[in-house]
Amino acid sequence: MATTEAEKSKEYRARKKAELALLPPEEAAAIIAEKKRKKAEYDAARYEEIGDQKRATSNAWYAANPERGKARSNARYAEKKDEILAQEAAKRRAAIEADPEYTKKEYQAALKRMAANPELYKATRRAGDKRRREADPERYQQASRDRYWADPEKSRERGVQDAHTRRARKLEAGGQFTAADIRTLMEKQKGKCLVCLKPFGKNKPHVDHYISLARGGTNDPSNLRLLCRKCNMAKHAKDPIEFGRLHGLLCW
Ligand SMILES: [Zn+2]
Repeated sequence: MATTEAEKSKEYRARKKAELALLPPEEAAAIIAEKKRKKAEYDAARYEEIGDQKRATSNAWYAANPERGKARSNARYAEKKDEILAQEAAKRRAAIEADPEYTKKEYQAALKRMAANPELYKATRRAGDKRRREADPERYQQASRDRYWADPEKSRERGVQDAHTRRARKLEAGGQFTAADIRTLMEKQKGKCLVCLKPFGKNKPHVDHYISLARGGTNDPSNLRLLCRKCNMAKHAKDPIEFGRLHGLLCW
């Protein structure tokens, strides 16, 4: 014996289902279609009223069925992509019209989201950059050239720095230096190569790792010195003591 409303309604649905099952399939299908249409019409008329309730039910379902929910929303998106994008764009336009500060707030919210999960956004940004670069490599090469020539001196400094950082990272050496560190070294060394003591003049100094990265040195400024090209090439990845002996800088 059904007592609660829910039980009564369940019983009612079971009875209707049994009745439908007795009908010829086409007739049953037509009845179901008509019921669905009426329900949709009824819901549409009361959308504002039942909207919150529907959203709550839907959110609860998605929370309880994450995998199926994902599949369902992907399928829906694939089917109605243009419609959904147009709807989103219209919503955004309306929001901008209603609030002139909207884009600013939107931007700040995005910054906040990015700050909350930097790794995720870094990966996303990199993936996007890569996709765009591959789609139009010429444009990216031009942009890169423009950046370089906007301040060639700084670009070269940064290039040297990046190359060392990459190498250090590769060797998991840790530590890093900046262009300012290099300028400080240049002042300390009075503009001269530490091995042959010749002034660098117009030549770009080579940033040398006193203990080479290959031998476990780091990128920390305390492990750096500036050498001329010739001396740096001669040193290559030799042990500093070995190198010093070889050049008569050490007598033990
Ligand atoms: Zn030298």
